[in-house]
Amino acid sequence: MDQAIENETVVQGVALSGGCSVAKVCRFNERRHENLPMFHLDQDGVEREHGRVDRAIDVVDTHLETIRKRVETEVGKAEAEIFVAHRMILKDPDVVHRIHDFIDTHSMNAEASVAQAFDYYESRLLKLESEVFRDRANDIGEVKHRLLDVLSDLQPTLQCQGEAHCQRGRNRIVVADELTPAMTVDLDASGILGFITRRGGVNSHGAILARALGIPAISGVGDLMDRLPCGTEVLVNGGTGSVVIWPLPETIAKAGNCRREAIVQVEVVEPIAAYRVLANVNTLADLEPALAMKAEGIGLYRTEIEVIAAGRYFSEDEWTDRMVRMVRAMQGKPVTIRLLDVGSDKTLPFMDIPPEENPSLGWRGLRLLLGRPELLGVQARALARASMHGPVNVLYPMVVDVDQFREGRRLFDEAIRGCPSGTLRHGVMFEVPSACLAADALLDVADFGSIGTNDLLQYFFAVDRDNERVAYDYHANRPVFWNLIRSIVDEARRRGKTVSVCGELAGDPDQVGRLYQAGIRDVSVSARRIPAIRTAYGALNKPRENQPGGNAA
Ligand code: PEP
Ligand code: MG
Repeated sequence: MDQAIENETVVQGVALSGGCSVAKVCRFNERRHENLPMFHLDQDGVEREHGRVDRAIDVVDTHLETIRKRVETEVGKAEAEIFVAHRMILKDPDVVHRIHDFIDTHSMNAEASVAQAFDYYESRLLKLESEVFRDRANDIGEVKHRLLDVLSDLQPTLQCQGEAHCQRGRNRIVVADELTPAMTVDLDASGILGFITRRGGVNSHGAILARALGIPAISGVGDLMDRLPCGTEVLVNGGTGSVVIWPLPETIAKAGNCRREAIVQVEVVEPIAAYRVLANVNTLADLEPALAMKAEGIGLYRTEIEVIAAGRYFSEDEWTDRMVRMVRAMQGKPVTIRLLDVGSDKTLPFMDIPPEENPSLGWRGLRLLLGRPELLGVQARALARASMHGPVNVLYPMVVDVDQFREGRRLFDEAIRGCPSGTLRHGVMFEVPSACLAADALLDVADFGSIGTNDLLQYFFAVDRDNERVAYDYHANRPVFWNLIRSIVDEARRRGKTVSVCGELAGDPDQVGRLYQAGIRDVSVSARRIPAIRTAYGALNKPRENQPGGNAA
């Protein structure tokens, strides 16, 4: 680590997620098992290392059971199953025997013996040309890391040793290379006060999750990363993108309402009929805040996030369970569920996607679903079953043109042939410029549209949504962008159809006036943003309010 900073220092990064926190830093431990101790033992050492292995297995076993219980209560039984599988791997007699045998026959320490035993099974599975075995290999790798964490006295994912510093990130600001969706979901997010990362753009999925969880986050801080040891006090201003290291009391006072501990509750603002604000949800757990904030429906359920979190695909029954819960909870309000939108930064490690030179222009979204119709089919049947409990809007991600959308619809209909279903409406994500320019043809066949400004900005202005170096160019302050939005709204209005906006732009109070002027009357934002958006709408001077604006109801 480079020389640590000792006096108050301000560093400018890229604002990813608003809010202000003051807390100690905890570093995410990216390379925690690179330099494991490996050495030969004397006879006493052999006994000691057998004991260390047994104790580590017990500790991991108890920890896995605690996580399993928590996940089962907070997320669901299906997601919790992965931890049952991990416990079985951990206590598999062949694995345990191999570790102890290695200590005896090679006189090697516990870390070396654990690593070789797990690597042996992992590499054998990786040689088999099957996705199922590769998934198992990933699971074996996970269990190995947990055991090595315990043996080396490391916190599972954070760098500091001991309770005083990291405490699994509780009331801490986590510093990492990159905020990945898996990491955001995996960390005990309820207690984290902020993220500072080297890389990551404002609309990376990790950033979106941070905003949904109400956690301030900043990226693009470059070399600063190497000068922030665990325990450094920092003030993170996720609104402006600034990080103040060792902030003086007057700096903290000037920053105003900065969090020091638990996340501040957001006040509810009542719905406004003229500007409907629905909720973006990523997991079932997001339903509760959506209801608490009086969301006027679910405008976007990103189904891929739970798959990333669970580390495996869901069955038709598991999807049905989730979708029915969404529909029932919303009691007749609109529920829009997006088909799996994977690829690019939302890759599934267990999914066989060959490495791509240019993944954001690669095999993703609807293009990928057309190549893997069984993935679309499982969700389609679950959506049909869910629609028996109330109307469901099905959203097709990353649509490129009308032929592609028609093909997606055809596969959907084919998959649900013979399934009983209720009302299903099919909509297009407008996030690829070619689709936006073909809004007339697409809205002739689609029932509704949803503008995904996160990807649309990226593809329209050829600027990577995940790259903080070009973040200055990733914005909507150009008339040509608003002309495009207006043209989609006009096409929708002509056909009596609704087009909403579900990208992050919709959750920015400063953009409410422009969206309204462009004719948008429905937006979908993360639950925590709902009050701020309603307040911003209330503060607008709305010259067109009594005119026939917007698209159809
Ligand atoms: C978008 O692109 O605006 C969108 C809502 O989808 P995602 O952020 O999941 O890519
Ligand atoms: Mg998108």
